[in-house]
Amino acid sequence: MSRLVLKFGGTSVANIDRIRNSARHVKREVDAGHEVAVIVSAMSGKTNELVAWCAEASPLHDAREYDAIVASGELVTAGLMAIVLQEMGVQARSWQGWQIPILTSDAHGAARIQSIDGGEIVRRFSERQEVAVIAGFQGLHGDSGRITTLGRGGSDTSAVAVAAAIGADRCDIYTDVNGVYTTDPRVVPKARRLDRVTFEEMLEMASLGAKVLQVRSVEVAMNHNVKVFVRSSFDDPAQPKPGTLICAEEDIMEQQVVTGIAFAKDEAQITLRRIADKPGVAAAIFMPLAEAGINVDMIIQVVSDDTTTTDMTFTVPGADFERAKALLAERREEIGYTVLQGTDDVVKVSAIGIGMRSHAGVAARAFRALSEKGINIRAITTSEIKFSVLIDSAYTELAVRTLHTLYGLDKP
Ligand code: ADP
Ligand code: ASP
Ligand code: MG
Repeated sequence: MSRLVLKFGGTSVANIDRIRNSARHVKREVDAGHEVAVIVSAMSGKTNELVAWCAEASPLHDAREYDAIVASGELVTAGLMAIVLQEMGVQARSWQGWQIPILTSDAHGAARIQSIDGGEIVRRFSERQEVAVIAGFQGLHGDSGRITTLGRGGSDTSAVAVAAAIGADRCDIYTDVNGVYTTDPRVVPKARRLDRVTFEEMLEMASLGAKVLQVRSVEVAMNHNVKVFVRSSFDDPAQPKPGTLICAEEDIMEQQVVTGIAFAKDEAQITLRRIADKPGVAAAIFMPLAEAGINVDMIIQVVSDDTTTTDMTFTVPGADFERAKALLAERREEIGYTVLQGTDDVVKVSAIGIGMRSHAGVAARAFRALSEKGINIRAITTSEIKFSVLIDSAYTELAVRTLHTLYGLDKP
């Protein structure tokens, strides 16, 4: 007997038929004698609808009320999943975040899980053979007693954190693709499913745009050594397939130099031209952005021809573009730039692979391949196991496919 967590994302619970099919996966594991906790997302599209309603009600809405509203999607699917399981003869009970409780910080809209009391769930496993169906994405801030949510895609994190809290042997993330691919299979049909991927690579892939897992869920899995599989809820429940295992580096026999290509469209580029080239300029630009909670990613400083001035180019999340421009415009004299330019019509394309640690020239090959396709690179960043290029968004697919082929990732 094993203890398992099964998580079903939005498309896997999109309607009653889909919930029924997902429930068959649960029943299979219960029939095999396992103890099962289920985490559900809201029906696909539901959270978007709730978010849009908040914005329509007031563009500057109260974050605590936002959480009260958007957490409601998961309540519905938790109850429905419990009913469908009961109808199949599986003992099941639904749980909202506060009932467990799943305690979080008070960062409404992006709360972090602090602790989960799995005691009652585990007691019911042994006393009643009861499946716990838990609403994902939500928690409770203990001091204020308010409902919180974990950020978009947060049900993945709920699942992995519950798995850690109840000491599960495995956490299966059921979604609409049958594993983690070398890149988004919806964009590159030649993408290949990976049998295994390391925590480090998955962390980079998720933070660089592959939304198949929420970044935080990978962090929690890595820190608590939770065995996570990504698999498809659309597979026949009678013939389950393993999907992709997220695991430690030593569990992978053969490493590719590049494991995957990710891309993120929610980027914006800002350039400040002809700034006086003297100490303190970078601080004058980036301190106010940091204080406003705006994350700066890529930074390039170029000395102009006259050597007394410099140009500074950097990227910020697309959602913060207008705010960042307004902040810099207010400080124009203080910073001392002449022109502020910006565009959010850019995409960050990244290649990720642990093998980059031991291979030189991996990024250089990409720069050549992209230039041969006429793709101009606006900015570059590199780190130990990845590099990213910022390009015009019109070239997204061409760039992703070019790199995918270049590093030998295409399906044979
Ligand atoms: P869920 O609703 O089940 O949480 P998501 O939509 O959040 O599902 O994540 C699954 C989607 O992630 C897939 O449909 C796929 O388009 C996308 N995706 C992006 N990059 C990858 C990748 N490298 N491998 C697999 N899926 C990816
Ligand atoms: N329903 C939430 C969202 O759409 C959480 C999740 O699906 O993981 O972001
Ligand atoms: Mg998701």
